[in-house]
Amino acid sequence: MKAKDILKNMKPYKPGKGIEEVKKEYGLDRIVKLASNENPFGFSPAVKKELPELIANLEIYPDGYGAEIRKKVASFINVDESELIFGNGSDEVVQIICRTFLEPGSNTVMATPTFPQYRHNALIEGAEVREVPLQEGHHNLEEMLANIDEQTRVLWICTPNNPTGVHIDRTTLQSVLERCPAHVLIVIDEAYYEYLEAEDAFDSLAALKKYPNLLVLRTFSKAYGLAGLRIGYGVAHPEVIQILEPSREPFNTSTVAQAAALLALDDQEFIEETVKENHKNKKSLMEFCDDHGLSYYDTQANFLLIHLPISGDEMFEHLLTKGFIVRSGEALGLPNTIRLTIGKKDDMEQIQEAMKQKLASGEK
Ligand SMILES: *Cc1c(COP(=O)(O)O)cnc(C)c1O
Repeated sequence: MKAKDILKNMKPYKPGKGIEEVKKEYGLDRIVKLASNENPFGFSPAVKKELPELIANLEIYPDGYGAEIRKKVASFINVDESELIFGNGSDEVVQIICRTFLEPGSNTVMATPTFPQYRHNALIEGAEVREVPLQEGHHNLEEMLANIDEQTRVLWICTPNNPTGVHIDRTTLQSVLERCPAHVLIVIDEAYYEYLEAEDAFDSLAALKKYPNLLVLRTFSKAYGLAGLRIGYGVAHPEVIQILEPSREPFNTSTVAQAAALLALDDQEFIEETVKENHKNKKSLMEFCDDHGLSYYDTQANFLLIHLPISGDEMFEHLLTKGFIVRSGEALGLPNTIRLTIGKKDDMEQIQEAMKQKLASGEK
């Protein structure tokens, strides 16, 4: 057998530790997972209530076009139905973009560290990946623009950026769109859009009217709490969507995911509550960090990247023993940090206590 050469040097995605795995290993009854930026409040009760209905006809293939969810999303974000493409999570939309635009001889420009799936999928397509280091957690957009040439196909912008949580302000992003050459597809990944509270946040959907080479990614996995069902979407000019469509599997989003997303969109109260709690608990966590001399990036997402006086792995291991799963920054390319999903109030108080212990024990 001979696979693509590039795959020799690639590893499969390494997920954060699983809940059952940690329970067993440490003999704990309760584990709080704060590693993947999932919604600590679950998902809309309306979805839960309707679940038995949603699984009624599993023998039938889903509507591959997603007519109903398409109509709902289009009206919710005020775009035309022809401007949408759905994926098995926005992860899959990333894959579809790479399949469509990237090949050997082409290149793609992104920040590092950022969401790893851009790089991963680009490499599989044989494209050259041009990674520009973050500056203080922010995209170095000038350097990213400077890396664009005739062979550049896709520019990836993640705002708020995973894993740093910082967003890109309106003026800056506007200026990037203005200067990015028209032959480059600009992807703005807004997986954490619902959590943004900055007043200078960019209105990417409004910008779609002006920039036909722009694509915006959104997902139901984070604030909507439907990560387990896998559904997300891209919004772009109808011509871009038409270019992408042949690379999409015909039945890529499931019947259940489509129907759940529809119900979830209708329950904006749940989103408001989620975001409100998140902002409160985020503030407390930042205060905790301030009080303990820990610096962090000014997040606009549902997670915080915290700088530590010890290695991220060490803090990760300590928190595991206390029943908390977080992400160590070592694996994310940010040594001496952890990335912490902002959870429920009680859990946050407990994890802060656990971090305090570890920090105090490190002082000589
Ligand atoms: C979580 C995440 C996604 C992927 O979400 P899906 O579950 O595939 O929709 C995309 N981009 C970023 C930046 C993320 O953090």
